[in-house]
Amino acid sequence: MKALDELTFDNRFDRLGDAFSAHVLPEPIDNPRLVVASPAAMALLDLDPSVAETPEFAELFSGHKLWADAIPRAMVYSGHQFGSYNPQLGDGRGLLLGEVYNEAGEHWDLHLKGAGQTPFSRMGDGRAVLRSSIREFLASEALNALNIPTTRALCVIGSDTPVWREKQERAAMILRLAPSHVRFGHFEYFYYTKRPEQQKELGDHVLAMHFPQCLEQPEPYLAMFREVVERNAELIAKWQAYGFCHGVMNTDNMSILGITFDFGPFAFLDDFDANFICNHSDDQGRYSFSNQVPIGQWNLSALAQALTPFISVEALRETLGLYLPLFQAHYLDLMRRRLGLTTAEDDDQKLLESLLQLMQNSSVDYSLFFRRLGDQTPEQAITRLRDDFVDLKGFDAWGELYVARVSREGTLDQEQRRQRMHAVNPLYILRNYLAQNAIEAAQNGDYSEVRRLHTVLSNPFEEQPGMESYAERPPEWGKHLEISCSS
Ligand code: AMP
Ligand code: MG
Repeated sequence: MKALDELTFDNRFDRLGDAFSAHVLPEPIDNPRLVVASPAAMALLDLDPSVAETPEFAELFSGHKLWADAIPRAMVYSGHQFGSYNPQLGDGRGLLLGEVYNEAGEHWDLHLKGAGQTPFSRMGDGRAVLRSSIREFLASEALNALNIPTTRALCVIGSDTPVWREKQERAAMILRLAPSHVRFGHFEYFYYTKRPEQQKELGDHVLAMHFPQCLEQPEPYLAMFREVVERNAELIAKWQAYGFCHGVMNTDNMSILGITFDFGPFAFLDDFDANFICNHSDDQGRYSFSNQVPIGQWNLSALAQALTPFISVEALRETLGLYLPLFQAHYLDLMRRRLGLTTAEDDDQKLLESLLQLMQNSSVDYSLFFRRLGDQTPEQAITRLRDDFVDLKGFDAWGELYVARVSREGTLDQEQRRQRMHAVNPLYILRNYLAQNAIEAAQNGDYSEVRRLHTVLSNPFEEQPGMESYAERPPEWGKHLEISCSS
């Protein structure tokens, strides 16, 4: 275990120089205090969870104090936002404080979001509000607990600093951890500004730091692109399998590592709805739940375009062609497991699609359905679940197919089946209304609910005594919350 002042910095991105980022110091927020910290994320830096309670912790993650070896930098990038190219983005309110190594030799970027204005702030104030910082914190740690690749969140620090959104709110900062903060938009920036040498410097850096295995391939850039395609196919399969809606899949919000990145008005599905749009400024539904799959490919094509100086168009096209089949294979594999199937049959896809259609028509709770399916034997579970469906005849027909399908798996030990299914079907999901309750309490100075919710979501597959209410369907008011995209 390390003390806070014992973190070892090695600022590799800083060494790339001023063409890639600007040196900026964080602007402190007033009267900083700990809202919530993640012991699991702290462990990634070898930090003892108790140091989160020290004044020094709040000072370091609110801009009041800085490690001597940290060289904070705002990164420059661009990207496609809602389909249109925006030539100038960049860290407008976040800073890469520095890069840290842990005792296992892993390397983590420390990124402080809400740290004040930078050369890339445009009209923005450089701040983040408490509400959105708590949402990002909870989602990062919840996704991680669901085994979905994501940036991590170390802590949220609250303050008295006023900020204006639709109304006056309070500023907060969130400390985000990731092995890299390089986005698709980084490559686009150097491509569209026609700076191939710098683009190559960036590419070589990313290859050496994050894809060293690709350096042994005859075409390292192509091998790297292939890995990015593979990782994104797998990531988005997980989002779809667990009902996660990112909300703003702009290419500046896509990580080169294929991890969930830059949380905005995200949501986990309550009722299953393929057409769900979590971002209420997304009028066209470009980033609706089911559109995440083709948008994943669209974003990879945008990256491919930016890589044309290094890879032939033909090879890029062929590699892009891998995305959809890979996505489908991962998705079906995950959904088979959620259904408690250990073997594969040709008609499984159909069985799944007809279930989702029935769920859609009857507004069935997506997470609880799968959890309950494993609670009892298939026959018992189907009998219990049928009450949730409007189309009873349709569900009965599906239930018969499902029971027959499970019986073809061989002899069934229900206890084993339950354990196997519960290990992939969470009981606790970050529902919008749960986040909302925690945020409202925190805005009134009570952080106990955020902390409790974080603890519950850190262990989503295990039943936790006393936490039954977190596993319930949302109340009616909680299903239709409009999540502001201002953050
Ligand atoms: P986002 O929608 O959060 O992914 O942000 C898109 C771009 O706007 C990024 O370049 C952000 O850094 C920038 N941005 C968002 N909010 C602010 C803010 N309050 N102040 C300055 N820049 C911001
Ligand atoms: Mg962003």
